[in-house]
Amino acid sequence: MARPGEFAAGAPEHAEAALRAALADLEGEPRCAECPNEADFFLYEPERVAKFVCWEHVSPISAVVEAAEGDGTVDRPLAVALSEEFS
Ligand SMILES: [Zn+2]
Repeated sequence: MARPGEFAAGAPEHAEAALRAALADLEGEPRCAECPNEADFFLYEPERVAKFVCWEHVSPISAVVEAAEGDGTVDRPLAVALSEEFS
């Protein structure tokens, strides 16, 4: 079980660029895609996942995305911790 913030295969620099683009589109603070909480992580996988989630939803969402593929060739989305990004 990967921990939140653990790097998936796939380019971290792409995730960072996607995060900056997503933040640029926001008005105000990023919010979780699954609940009203403030987002703590940005989930990213090229061409498949790009959304903000809170700490409560980052693990379940990652697991769901991974399980949905089922062929064993796709890595879980990269979870970028926003607290690190803004520190
Ligand atoms: Zn949430």
